[in-house]
Amino acid sequence: MPGRQSTSAEDRFFSQVVRGPAPSDCWIWTGAIGDDGYGRFWVPQPDGGQRAMRPQRRLYEHLTGTALHPTVLLLHACDIPLCVHVDVDDSVSHLAPGTHRGNMLERVQRGRHRNGSTAVRMAGLQRSERVALSRELREAFRDHGWDPAAIRACRTGIAPDTPTLW
Ligand SMILES: [Zn+2]
Repeated sequence: MPGRQSTSAEDRFFSQVVRGPAPSDCWIWTGAIGDDGYGRFWVPQPDGGQRAMRPQRRLYEHLTGTALHPTVLLLHACDIPLCVHVDVDDSVSHLAPGTHRGNMLERVQRGRHRNGSTAVRMAGLQRSERVALSRELREAFRDHGWDPAAIRACRTGIAPDTPTLW
């Protein structure tokens, strides 16, 4: 985070993230993955214990200063469960609270998130398939860093220039 004060929690967080080179690329979580196919970030609690959070949720709350109500879903425009690309600028962020998803989908369809990962159809996968795919992606990014080929491998054969990615 250029310009932001660095904290050990932030360092610990981003040491587990592989960010794509372009501003619109996904940021792939390479840390722990839960049995739902989403990441897990362990957050120390005041009582000395630890709580597992979805990392994208943690980052969203950190950057926006907004505590998400437990019933409010944070949704991916890019359909990559491991993506944690949160930005306070809604036109850049890959994640938004459920109520904003409509706008975000519209934006994605207009092509502002052309990082190659938007064609991935992970949203319709069974839970077990999603977990398997997330683990595969994590391994690829963990071993090789930013890896467009790994993301392409998850595509469903849609040409990159197809206007509607859904
Ligand atoms: Zn993304």
